[in-house]
Amino acid sequence: PRTPLTLLGAGAMGTALGRAWLAAGHPLTVWNRTPGRTGTLASEGAAVAGSAAEAVAASRLVVVCLLDDASVGEALAAAELTGRDLVNLTTGTPGEARERAAWAKTRGARFLDGGIMAVPPMIGAPGAYVLYSGDRGLFEEHEDVLAAPAGTEYVGADPGLAALHDVALLSGMYGMFAGITHAFALVRGEDVAPKEFAALLVPWLTAMAGMAHGAAERLASGDLTTGVVSHLAMQVAGSGTLLRTAEEQGVSTELLTPFLDLMRRRLADGHGDEDTTGLVGLLHARP
Ligand code: NDP
Repeated sequence: PRTPLTLLGAGAMGTALGRAWLAAGHPLTVWNRTPGRTGTLASEGAAVAGSAAEAVAASRLVVVCLLDDASVGEALAAAELTGRDLVNLTTGTPGEARERAAWAKTRGARFLDGGIMAVPPMIGAPGAYVLYSGDRGLFEEHEDVLAAPAGTEYVGADPGLAALHDVALLSGMYGMFAGITHAFALVRGEDVAPKEFAALLVPWLTAMAGMAHGAAERLASGDLTTGVVSHLAMQVAGSGTLLRTAEEQGVSTELLTPFLDLMRRRLADGHGDEDTTGLVGLLHARP
């Protein structure tokens, strides 16, 4: 028999998760603040609870997927959590996760935080995964259940680490989105088909993403000059072409200049033989 579990939250993500657990044969109890949203899961076999407290009472394993950390506190205010295994898949900051973990402990529950690296249509399909941090015993005991909707990646006992990894990955993504946006702006209005340009941009960015491995090696060794294929002095010298091309094309440099300015600062500090890995420290020292 499959482990029964409770799910709080039948929004877009909660519903996708719940469907995957039902499909895998887990008895599911669901609660949602607005009752109308539990229809899909009910029709697929979930038991619907009338209150969050009632839902929590139904299973030892309780998964929460609500809007934000404040809604988690609100929903669980009146629930008896003693002896419960609480898995929080609500997106939040590392600090919120740490506070929520301490809060859960005082309420007598084990706590695991999770960051979902997928959108709802990806749940139940290969490629989707969830970052987990917090109580390792909880994670190991329930890993088979947690693995039904998405892959699992445990990143540490500090409950803030899942959220930190989640936000760090998302932040890296936004840097890439900024680059994609600027690149399309440069070619816009010219005799360049967006689809043909994308066919060049995607493999280029995919290849360049691999540079993160070299950066990681340098950060781990502490020597930021080894294995550098394109050093900062050269990159700063070349950046003038990027700015002049933007000007020629009538494109704002506002997405580009923050990064170029950091490169210049690091060069001015005497680090022309590094690559951009040195900017990590620069950014961290002056937030
Ligand atoms: P939805 O907006 O679809 O659902 C939000 C859910 O939170 C609903 O169940 C809503 O209930 C509930 N809720 C909001 N406020 C409260 C409250 N004060 N008390 C109780 N319940 C409340 O969002 P998603 O399902 O998409 O997202 C849920 C979580 O999953 C979020 O933290 C999100 O960041 C995360 N996530 C979502 C992804 C996505 O692509 N959708 C991707 C990765 C993570 P009600 O129906 O009553 O409004």
